Amino acid sequence: MNSMLLKGKTALVTGAGRGIGKAIAIRLAEAGADVVINYNTSEDGAKETAEIVEGAGVKALVIKADVSNPEEVKEMFGRIKDEFGMVNILVNNAGILKDSLLLMMKDDMWDDVIDTNLKGPYLCMKYAVKMMMREKYGKIVNISSIIGRRGNAGQVNYAASKAGLIGMTYSAAKELGKMGIRVNAIAPGVIQTDMIAHLKDDYIEHLKEGIALGKLGTPEEVAEVVLFFASPASDYVTGQVIGVDGGQVI
Ligand code: NAP
Repeated sequence: MNSMLLKGKTALVTGAGRGIGKAIAIRLAEAGADVVINYNTSEDGAKETAEIVEGAGVKALVIKADVSNPEEVKEMFGRIKDEFGMVNILVNNAGILKDSLLLMMKDDMWDDVIDTNLKGPYLCMKYAVKMMMREKYGKIVNISSIIGRRGNAGQVNYAASKAGLIGMTYSAAKELGKMGIRVNAIAPGVIQTDMIAHLKDDYIEHLKEGIALGKLGTPEEVAEVVLFFASPASDYVTGQVIGVDGGQVI
């Protein structure tokens, strides 16, 4: 897609210091958007993302904020308002795993995952929508997971958060459509990032057998679909979930 596609737009990507979020920030910048790079702990990664974004000829703003913390999210949007006046594209990418079998799960493992993966997107959407409704146009992309569609043993907290994000996407799409705000979700499969670094090689081989394309995905492949949802190419698309999973869920 050409570099003028998102010219004049501002995108906020949460968790953009590494992994899928970093690839999304770079792809949106290549398409012409100014990018707000949110991070929580990966300060060096966020600065590196900002350098690459600026190298694409657009503006980058790095903001540290824990998306599960209402005060920090409020402050982040205050800074975005001061710097850019507006956010046109919100990508709720930040997410964590705290896996455990149900019987062994500690309550804080449940709370942490739900707070980051579900409350975080809720908070960010709330502030972003206030800005977007003034323009009667906006794009929200929620990064869910195949686990939110089909569950997985040892991940009741993660599955609940990602299924919840899909439900929130459907409801928000219905609620915000008449304001010109499109809300869609992506359900990645197994994508090569730190998040899957703990998986053993033989388990990865087993997973590949269940993937139609027979291979894992890359952050860049997820970023291409985010760009589709962020761009005018998807202006008549809302309330949808696209699997970027190589055909793992068919
Ligand atoms: P990752 O490499 O583990 O990165 C996680 C990202 O989330 C980091 O940028 C991290 O920021 C950010 N983050 C975590 N907690 C945060 C918080 N409280 N506030 C702000 N940022 C926070 O994971 P990834 O694979 O890129 O995952 C990105 C998204 O894709 C997640 O929502 C994940 O659930 C989803 N996903 C991934 C896969 C996969 O196979 N990799 C599959 C399906 C869905 P800091 O490093 O700055 O703390």
